[in-house]
Amino acid sequence: MERVCLLVVTGVALLVSATAGSAQPVKTGKQQEALWLHRVIPLPKQIAIPAHVTLPAAEVGLRLRSGAGDAERQAAAELKALFDAQTGAALSGDGFQIHIGVADAQGRMGAAVVPEVRQLVGLPNSEQAYVIVPVGERKLILAGLDERGVYYAARTLQDLLQGAFADGRVTIPLATVVDWPDMAERGEWGGSAAGDIEWMAARKLNLVELHAGMKVNAEGRGVATIDQGKITAGRLRALKVVPIIMHLDYLHGTGLYERYPGVVGVGNAARTGAGGDPVALCFSQPKSTEMLADWMRSLAAYEGVTDIMVWLSEYHGRCECEACDAALQQGVTQHALEVQAVGKALDILREDYPRLNARVLLTQGTYPDNDKVLAATPDNVQVSYYCGGGRERSTY
Ligand SMILES: [Zn+2]
Repeated sequence: MERVCLLVVTGVALLVSATAGSAQPVKTGKQQEALWLHRVIPLPKQIAIPAHVTLPAAEVGLRLRSGAGDAERQAAAELKALFDAQTGAALSGDGFQIHIGVADAQGRMGAAVVPEVRQLVGLPNSEQAYVIVPVGERKLILAGLDERGVYYAARTLQDLLQGAFADGRVTIPLATVVDWPDMAERGEWGGSAAGDIEWMAARKLNLVELHAGMKVNAEGRGVATIDQGKITAGRLRALKVVPIIMHLDYLHGTGLYERYPGVVGVGNAARTGAGGDPVALCFSQPKSTEMLADWMRSLAAYEGVTDIMVWLSEYHGRCECEACDAALQQGVTQHALEVQAVGKALDILREDYPRLNARVLLTQGTYPDNDKVLAATPDNVQVSYYCGGGRERSTY
């Protein structure tokens, strides 16, 4: 907070010293600042708008750091589209510069140095953190330690520029912003999420989990598909699209049971009689893990896939073969075998996809034994809590 106050004083001093140019900075009144802040969703952690400047939109230019990545270019493209839509200006002027890009931990952004970036180091989720810094009255720097932060900086400026255009002129807030999210991931699966990627990203939501299509092909290998366009649309906007491998007891449509009947769980307990006739797989059979690895390999091959979600069995069915029964005697439940299989599948893919991450979804089926499932979860597998019909129960 001390830093924000210092910068406010600096901004006011600039009002006095400004002498050049046709459009002078104007001090921002409290009401006007409040109006501006209402436009930014979510509200940045630290933001002050001590002054603003109004000038012809055609005089505004945008400079992107050299070597900018896809998300930085997307950030620039969105700002350009905003100016174009509002005024037809191409962001190629030289009267006011918006300079955006990734800076290193020392604040170096190409030849420029942005000391304010150094305070982002060590912040929670610092890869998504960013600063907006006015430099004099003719420049605004948008910078982060990672492209994701840069994208969010540009989103914040876009929000601030809502309603800022009139008669070919734009009012630019000389805003000082330091922002970072409290939660690393913010998003959803299902519903309209797949169609809302751009809308969600504009509000700094950053996760959509999307069902993959899964089959067993003519050669007996598992093949999974996902919409590459959705993954790319998310990646450009700092939003991670995570493919979902469906509940492991609902793989009827894949052809798995017909091709490899040996993986179908043994005994009456494998079928719970729930809707859709879920059937537990036998994860004592190596083929079950191999097929899981096949599907994960297919999905990992898509550009931009960094994580794969596996939904554990939705119900409490379990295989009663000798090996699975023996495991249960050791406290290793059906769902624990499943989560171990996810870890093994990740290990199988490690050489080809060393940075691939896996996560599992808990279910109402795992709920009574979540402690055992968590105990069995390998270190390289993340866990999302969910319990259909009992989501309010979170005793873990
Ligand atoms: Zn079994």
